[in-house]
Amino acid sequence: MIRTDIDLTRTGKQQGFLRVPYSHNLAGWANIMIPITVIARGHGPTVLVLGGNHGDEYQGQVAIMKLARALSEDSVQGRLILIPALNFPAAQAATRLSPIDGMNLNRAFPGDAEGSVTSQIAHYLTHHLFPISDAVIDIHSGGRSMEFVPCSHMHVVPNREQRRAMLQAMLAWNTDFCFLYTDIAGTGLLPVEAESQGKTVITTELGGGEGVSASVHRIAYDGLQNVLRHLGVLSGKAQTRDAVGLPPSVITQALDARNYLLAPESGIFEVCVDLGARVSADQPVGYIHFLERPDRHPHVITSPKQGYLIAARTPCRTHQGDCIAVIGEEVRADTVMDLP
Ligand SMILES: [Zn+2]
Repeated sequence: MIRTDIDLTRTGKQQGFLRVPYSHNLAGWANIMIPITVIARGHGPTVLVLGGNHGDEYQGQVAIMKLARALSEDSVQGRLILIPALNFPAAQAATRLSPIDGMNLNRAFPGDAEGSVTSQIAHYLTHHLFPISDAVIDIHSGGRSMEFVPCSHMHVVPNREQRRAMLQAMLAWNTDFCFLYTDIAGTGLLPVEAESQGKTVITTELGGGEGVSASVHRIAYDGLQNVLRHLGVLSGKAQTRDAVGLPPSVITQALDARNYLLAPESGIFEVCVDLGARVSADQPVGYIHFLERPDRHPHVITSPKQGYLIAARTPCRTHQGDCIAVIGEEVRADTVMDLP
């Protein structure tokens, strides 16, 4: 049902919209108009760059808008498809979920051509944009609920050739930390659909919370451009951390559900370890305090393993079952290819 005024086969720079039919009380024949920029020239890979999969994650939205304005046709070899605010209604509302249908776009794949607005967006990517792309970049942060140490991340996909391409592209973001993750909260993720189509998928968790610091905006914009150079779609040579005098990225993994700590009780969460800090097994990483019972000792949240605090909940008020911390265990780069 989605149509676009962009010609995806044309050379040059085009600015337009993906138009999703949306009939509501005050506009019977309306469209939701999702901005899209396509820049194409000559032979090279097609790279799809997405922000705003979750509307309350601003790092990718800002970086992609800046890049779309800055780039001319001359700097591209191949085709770059830029969508800064993929779940556009959620981005307008600054919410994780769509305010129109209450859906999480990142649980809506493969989508439904005749479903709700969010299902239609997922379906369009699955059937029109992923098949023509060699690589898919989906920029996330922790949104309102979590803050991550800024990291690029990936699933450990079973195909070794695809895994190697994803590992190299993840490292090309040049973040201090990288993170191998698993899905503990449902199915239907955008990266999983793109991975199942054999694409090189690059994802991130660049900070989180309502605000974004200048350094995290820089990591988003500089890292994105470096990955695009690494993939060969943007002219110029990709930089390595070594070349600019930085130590290798610390690669961590949380492939076991026990690495994702959920609140056992509701209360006020106090984190007691800084993001990116090393933790040992059984070390306290936070406390849950009980407003109604200040005399009661707080519930101590301990790390199940030795590793790094990769993410922590940002709103202190916490409900039972909320994810409050993520522990990443260090893995060597040369062993990532050996993981099952
Ligand atoms: Zn997200």
